Amino acid sequence: MGKLHLEVVTPEKVMVSQDVDIVVAPGSLGEFGILEGHVPFLSGIVAGELRYTSDSQTERLVVTTGFAEVSENRVSVLVDAAERAAEIDVERARRALERAKERLARQREVGDVDFLRAEAALKRAIVRIRVAEKKT
Ligand code: ATP
Repeated sequence: MGKLHLEVVTPEKVMVSQDVDIVVAPGSLGEFGILEGHVPFLSGIVAGELRYTSDSQTERLVVTTGFAEVSENRVSVLVDAAERAAEIDVERARRALERAKERLARQREVGDVDFLRAEAALKRAIVRIRVAEKKT
């Protein structure tokens, strides 16, 4: 199988820059997979798991919102944040989840909370916990 070059970039760092066999990413229209020879493609990225396999080794990351571009066997993913599954601080994500839930409850009762912002924080926290606790 031919290789693709994957780059995962955040405003803070280049998280991944390597040749891989396959990339599976959380697109705004659903999860998508990219192999060598894929047609040019542009997609939004939503909070979720991005995985890639290189020489039978699969790596899993959490990514948050951004974009992906596929062109000439290159996959460029530009996202607000990314963490490797093993680097996720589950306690921090649980605290973020509780804060987001409190804000959403407050939105229902008092209505002075930015709903979309609280909802996005809730999604990031849920995905971090899910990916960190996944066994495979
Ligand atoms: P928090 O409220 O805990 O900061 P958040 O969802 O607002 O969570 P982000 O804005 O998505 O955090 O990310 C800010 C930075 O912190 C990024 O570099 C991201 O990779 C990192 N980060 C956020 N949550 C975690 C976590 N649970 N474990 C490891 N790194 C995290």
